[in-house]
Amino acid sequence: MVAAALAFYETLHMTFSKHISDMPDTVPWYSRSLDFEQLARDYPPPPDYFRTTATLSRDALHALQETRFLATVQRGWEIPFFQRHWAASGIERGDIRSLDNLTRLPPYDVSHIRDSIERNPPFGDFMGISPADGAHMPMVLQTSGGTTGLPRPMLYAPQDRETMAILGGRRFAMHGVRPGDLVLVTYSLGLGNGGMAPREAIWRYTGAIPVMTGSGANTPTRRQIEIIKAWKINVILGFPSYLRHMALIAKEEMGIDPKSLGIRLLGTHLGMENRELIEDLWGAPAFDMYGTHESGMLAAECQHQTGMHVMEDAFILEMADPETGKILPDGEKGTTYITTLYKYGAPQIRFNVNDISAFHTDTCPCGNTMRRLKRIFGRNDNMIKLRGVNVFPEAIGAAVLEDKRGNGEFFCFVDRVGQAQADHMDVWVEMLCDEQEAPVFKLDLERRMKEVLGVKVQITPVAKGALDQYTGTSSTSKVKRLMDRRA
Ligand SMILES: [Zn+2]
Repeated sequence: MVAAALAFYETLHMTFSKHISDMPDTVPWYSRSLDFEQLARDYPPPPDYFRTTATLSRDALHALQETRFLATVQRGWEIPFFQRHWAASGIERGDIRSLDNLTRLPPYDVSHIRDSIERNPPFGDFMGISPADGAHMPMVLQTSGGTTGLPRPMLYAPQDRETMAILGGRRFAMHGVRPGDLVLVTYSLGLGNGGMAPREAIWRYTGAIPVMTGSGANTPTRRQIEIIKAWKINVILGFPSYLRHMALIAKEEMGIDPKSLGIRLLGTHLGMENRELIEDLWGAPAFDMYGTHESGMLAAECQHQTGMHVMEDAFILEMADPETGKILPDGEKGTTYITTLYKYGAPQIRFNVNDISAFHTDTCPCGNTMRRLKRIFGRNDNMIKLRGVNVFPEAIGAAVLEDKRGNGEFFCFVDRVGQAQADHMDVWVEMLCDEQEAPVFKLDLERRMKEVLGVKVQITPVAKGALDQYTGTSSTSKVKRLMDRRA
């Protein structure tokens, strides 16, 4: 017995000693990884942001952008992906000397990133950091939503992650989030940045408190509503489809009027969704924002709801003609190119993110001098060709939402039909009206779709909740709207 105990102690002791001997002399502590005060001067969080960066003159902003852009290009030359991509366009070190030279650099898109990952699995060579840098730098890994195959990984260096949190903090402060607010975060918790990035931003830079319920799969929707009520949550973050879903569950299944819950504001990602519909359900203003996992928080609406102020001290956004790549003047719709000015680990330099947007040309009454995006009109890569016509599912969604006989839920099936194998789209739409009204609802919506899309689609009214198995509205924040079954 004693011998056995001794032997056990011996093993334990050896294991413990082994741990110690394996341990390097230092571990990179996050609290020592950055000069936090300097970072806050460079990228002021709220409220300093409103008194400093947000009111810079366009000339002062241009000078700041130029300094940061040239540093970013220098960093780019240390990263194999950019060395290869730029060399292929005949760009040499020293060619880029000012911000005016930006357009000489060739854009790239997600196909180039996938190629980079294939060449150098598993993380690609588009990042200037790798897991081995964990020896001297604390890092975090999050991914793209990943609709097909493995999601695309992104490692964040301390500078990158902390600045993202600051930019997120600005977003929430612009929306009107204030210290002491309780913010329900209904975005997915996991590999994606959905819930993770807002948590860091709210907790570190707003004085408000994130309440991480996650999507309906993390916390059932009824429970989320019980939590809102019991803890007096006053801000909700979520995708428009989930905000609608929550409000309808409260109203119809729990007998609670969402307006009675005391929600002061909603943070969302409107795209082509109908703002008024969500605001009417909750009795609170809904604010738009734009962010991606590669870049962080790019732009957000202030309380005037006049479009999204771009964080122009941290990004340069360009709108390009999707066909020719020509840069378009402010006001015209194009595909968005992103250049990050703050990222060390994985800068983006003219990344064509394939989202369609446009700049406003007027100024905002709030006095913020940063240019504003009108909205995200759609994603180039969601676009499908239907009998030669370009169709965005986002535009279908906007038309579906206009009709109050439906609840805004829809799903598109695309097939080839008949002997001619013609393209055919069938849009299933959840209806709130009576069964006998369905034929008129169908005809009206088909007529409206023809007007909006310029091509005929079929509408199939279905019962409320019938589409959840296709869209995933109740359980995921990555809602699906389309299945293309043309081989
Ligand atoms: Zn404003």
